Formats: sequence, C-alpha cells, structure tokens
Amino acid sequence: MLHDSGSWHWEFNEKVAAIRDRILGIAGLRRTDGWEAIPLQGSGTFGVEAVFQTILPPQGKVAVMSNGAYGERIVLMLQHAKIDHVVLRTLEDTPNDPDALEVLLAKDPMITHVAAIHCETTTGILNPIAALGAMSRRFGKTYIVDAMSSFAAYPIDFEACAIDYLISSANKCIEGVPGFSFVICRRANLLATEGWARSLSLDLLGQLKEFEKNGQFRYTPPTHSVLAFEQALHELDMEGGVLGRAARYKRNHEVLLDGMKALGFRSYLPEAVQSYIITSFIFPADPKFTFQEFYRQVSEKGYLLYPGKISQADTFRIGNIGRLFESDMRSVVSAIGEAIGEMGVRI
Ligand SMILES: *Cc1c(COP(=O)(O)O)cnc(C)c1O
Repeated sequence: MLHDSGSWHWEFNEKVAAIRDRILGIAGLRRTDGWEAIPLQGSGTFGVEAVFQTILPPQGKVAVMSNGAYGERIVLMLQHAKIDHVVLRTLEDTPNDPDALEVLLAKDPMITHVAAIHCETTTGILNPIAALGAMSRRFGKTYIVDAMSSFAAYPIDFEACAIDYLISSANKCIEGVPGFSFVICRRANLLATEGWARSLSLDLLGQLKEFEKNGQFRYTPPTHSVLAFEQALHELDMEGGVLGRAARYKRNHEVLLDGMKALGFRSYLPEAVQSYIITSFIFPADPKFTFQEFYRQVSEKGYLLYPGKISQADTFRIGNIGRLFESDMRSVVSAIGEAIGEMGVRI
C-alpha cells in the first residue's frame, strides 16, 4: 500500500484491469461471456446506490425484500432518488418470502426490478436469493442482489440465481481495506440503461465507459485500496478461493457459537437460517448487564464487539469474517467469559 501509484499511469491501469477480471473469476464468470466487474470509489453503500441511480428507467418501480437495516437502507435510497417502490417485509429472524414476491409480481405489473440482500448483516440471516431470482426471472424482472457481506465466502451461482446486478465491496469477505465497492453485471444490460442515470458521480455506466475508453476510474481512484486489494486477492487464492475461505469462516462460526453457548449465551437466529458471516447474541436477562459496560470490558481485553442493529430484540453481534481464525474465536469467547465474571452477571 505504500507504493505511490500514478493514478493514470499504465502500471496502475493494468492492476485495475487485472482486479476487474479476478473479481469475475471469484464469481465464476468471464468477460468474454459478456460480464463486467465495475469498481466504484466509496464504501459498499455507494455501489448499491449507484445501481439504483443508474439502471432505473424514469417509470421504473422496485420491489424491495427487507428483513433488516440494509434492506431498509435500499428503501431510503429509493426515497431519496424519488424512485417508485414497494417493500415486502418479514421479521428480522425470518428470511424473505418468495411466495409473497410471486403474489406481488402477479398483481403489480408496474414493478420492473426486484432487490434483495443475500446475507442481511443486521442479524446474519441468509436470504433465499435463488428462489427470489427464479421468481424475478419468471416475471421478466431485473434482479439486484446486495451480497456485500457474503460475496467470496458463499459460492454464488449467477445463472441459477438469475442475478442481473450484484454488489459487494473490497473490505468484507475479500479482506481488503476499505475504499471501493464493485458491481458485477452483464455489459449489454448496463449499456441498455443509457440516458437514465440520475446521478453524475454514481453513474455506473459512465464508470464502465471510462474504463473502456482509457482503463481508468472516472475521477481520482482509491490507489492504495486497489494495491491492498490485489494482495487480498492473492491471499484468497492461497486459501483455496471461495470454498477455502468458506471453510475457515464456518469453523469460526462453530467455535464461537459453541463457546458462547457454553457460557450460557443464546444466539438470536435459528441455526437453519443463520449464516457463518456474523452471529447475533441475545443480551443476558440479569439487570447487572449493560451493553456499554460489557463493550468497555471486552474492548479492554482487545476485542471490539458490534452493537446490535436490530430493532426487534436486544442483541450484540460478533463477526466471523476478516483475518480471524479459530484461535481468535476461542480468545474472544474467553475474554467475554472474563468480562461477564468481572461484571458479576449471571446468565
Ligand atoms: C456492510 C454492508 C453494506 C454497506 O456497506 P458500507 O461499506 O458500510 O457502506 C450494505 N449491505 C450489506 C448487506 C452490508 O453488510
């Protein structure tokens, strides 16, 4: 990351071209089959918003499948962009409902696009993106999947899931540093959205055209993040690609869950719908427990917990992704055990 890249220099442009192809490789796709991976400056949210700002026709309408904060964030984006939409909500511990989508699509022909979150990181729940995609395809709708926290750690079959647009970012399961998101889509589909972009800097088609014209990001690229990403891709390869990474995260999740259960904690989600990306735990009922104090104690032992993002239950979250191994998960469990002991909390 300390190399000072010239952002228009061929040396840097070659790296950008290479990472774009390697992102497609993770997805099992190829440019020669018409697919593109388009990196975009900014965090993951910028990539998701760029899709809606770019590909929705003036009269477009989106059906949003929501069971957490990231589904609701898409709703906010659509409100800001004044794009017509309808939201199909399920409870935060309940996966999206493909049958409800079928009923909706059958009765509302104005809907042009369907949007879903693969792993809703709010809770760690896994949504049925293949069943939702099959439904979208049956009704001829464009299907958008936010796979921010799952891409590269869950195998995703674009054909089977009928995905038209998928969004992820540099710093989740690919383990790069923050700085950019990327969108995977078919070149022909994106070209067909010409003239619809509602935003200048979030115009995904504009970004693709710039890559095709001179190999560069439009506007200043996150040079250091791109260099780190190249290394992160190398480490992903060394680990055995998506399946290798999946195995480590799965193990992290199991070790964490077993350890936390042994301390008396209960996880929020039923195991059948729980991903191995992030795990939510329910607050102990003992009134001596406050999250603030618990967080402080555990952070002093070297571990930062995630507060819950859930509105329907008091929970905190522990991530299983990133440069973490079984030994880290054992250590965080023992730090939590000590903190609970020092606070005098009984579970
Ligand atoms: C992290 C995340 C986002 C947002 O990404 P930022 O990089 O925080 O902007 C969107 N969707 C999902 C599912 C996420 O996990």
